[in-house]
Amino acid sequence: MRICRFNEDRLGVVEGDEILDVSEAATVLPVLRWPLPRGDLLIANLPRVMEEIEHLRAGARRVPLSSVRLLSPVANPTKIAAAPVNYLKHLQEAEADAETFARHHVRKIEEVGIFLKASSSLVGPGEGVAIRFPDRRNDHEIELAVVIGRTCDRVPAEHALDYVAGYAIAVDMTLRGPEERSMRKSIDSYSVLGPWLVTADEIPDPARLSFELGVNGEVRQNANTRDLVIGIPQLIAWCSSFYTLYPGDVLMTGTPEGVGPVAPGDRILASFEGIGRMEVTVRAAE
Ligand code: MN
Repeated sequence: MRICRFNEDRLGVVEGDEILDVSEAATVLPVLRWPLPRGDLLIANLPRVMEEIEHLRAGARRVPLSSVRLLSPVANPTKIAAAPVNYLKHLQEAEADAETFARHHVRKIEEVGIFLKASSSLVGPGEGVAIRFPDRRNDHEIELAVVIGRTCDRVPAEHALDYVAGYAIAVDMTLRGPEERSMRKSIDSYSVLGPWLVTADEIPDPARLSFELGVNGEVRQNANTRDLVIGIPQLIAWCSSFYTLYPGDVLMTGTPEGVGPVAPGDRILASFEGIGRMEVTVRAAE
């Protein structure tokens, strides 16, 4: 199932070039009071929501996909974990360009581990990216995003995929420079997730998906998840060996070679086998 959030927090199911408005399915979610449990409420209750969606499907209002504004399919992750240089050719391009990629950030993923991006940086493709420091280099990074479905604490790699709710495309936007990644990659709108969540049952093997990112019609990144240095189950196991992953937490699995700058006015087109494609416009922050 392809589940999206659109316009003013409407809930939809994607069918071809249409969206079925199944917002009413959210009424099955429990009504909560302070202090709320950690995690995204919709993702935590996804099986129940999907059941309700099946009931609503036949009578649902249909709207053209092209007419809506797509938001992040996950509304409230507790965190966004992200893998640095997890494709060998991206490590090589970074090592070859010390001027752009600060030397102390370019080390093997096995040494540096996984970093966190602020959850406040999360947007959907329809919201676009707002550049705050236009005088510096702001790069696109296309990545496979894994959305955690169940609370996950110290899970072994062989069971890790059981905890995945689904997959989406991520653009991990990055300001280049000397600051910590957690600052440079946490600017508001610098984590784009979309165009929707494809539930895990539709992607039995996330480690053989080809993907591509273009800017203004020019292809910049083109790779396949089979070339990940550390695989998806191992990444989940590694994260959860340090901290608990909650429903809705997002894991960005790393970007391949071909990262490059974008500027206000640019249009990013990101597409992923098994997921879909999304357009993201770049503007100057107000
Ligand atoms: Mn990245």
